[in-house]
Amino acid sequence: MTQRVAYITGGSRGIGAAIAKSLAKDGHDIAISYARNEQAAQKTLEDVRALGRRGMAIRCDGEGNGNRAAIQRVVAEMGRIDALVCNAGIYPYGDVAEMTDEQVDAVLGLNVRAVMIETIEAARHMTQGGRIILIGSTFADRSPFPGISLYSASKSALNGFARGAARDLGPRGITINVVQPGPIDTDMNPATGAAADMLRSFMCHKEYGKVSDIASVVSFLASPAAGFITGSALTTDGGLAA
Ligand code: NDP
Repeated sequence: MTQRVAYITGGSRGIGAAIAKSLAKDGHDIAISYARNEQAAQKTLEDVRALGRRGMAIRCDGEGNGNRAAIQRVVAEMGRIDALVCNAGIYPYGDVAEMTDEQVDAVLGLNVRAVMIETIEAARHMTQGGRIILIGSTFADRSPFPGISLYSASKSALNGFARGAARDLGPRGITINVVQPGPIDTDMNPATGAAADMLRSFMCHKEYGKVSDIASVVSFLASPAAGFITGSALTTDGGLAA
């Protein structure tokens, strides 16, 4: 069987690194992107290679540029692309009346525009079908506390994009879905401090999730077993939005 290839944006740390390892275990060769943290990206690649898979890392800039070229590099160097996981994201936090134009541009650039361009480019190369998985957020559906307007809006955009794109991509054998994590213990959202305690109090589970809780859902959506799921948003948030 031809070796499948998965590309995970933001695969150097956190949820993206866990997804890279999970998809490697499932039998994919792995490409990841990162922004600054070369050392962490190399660590993810070591883990991927220890699982017997090929790995490559591509640096992208903080504004989410270079995404089309990154996918072209994956196809040129790995030979194909079967799964795209758009995971890289930023979390601007603050009162909407205090937000700057630069913050608006940055969140739209990485959380929305980059995802659209990556999907467009990857779909062109998925000539034998494929899987596209967007990492959204439970905050797309709920804003349980102040300060998350830009972030929530950027993640809501992914749900509309996935529903629309599913219609276009279905006839080509490509599924596209959103995974909507709740609080997951990473550098972006550490499970300590007052903000973490507040989030816990909103959750049915009363405890943060682990990066593996999201990676396992992505592995399922990337598997043949999930072929009938497309245009969906799968909330994986310990019951925060319940
Ligand atoms: P982290 O901040 O821990 O990791 C972010 C990753 O994205 C890093 O690998 C970072 O690379 C990379 N990155 C940042 N900017 C870029 C860029 N321009 N191009 C490529 N890669 C980039 O985040 P999480 O793992 O917590 O979050 C991953 C995704 O999950 C995000 O989309 C986030 O919004 C979403 N999410 C997270 C939740 C949580 O509670 N943690 C909850 C809901 C959603 P580098 O190492 O080089 O900086």
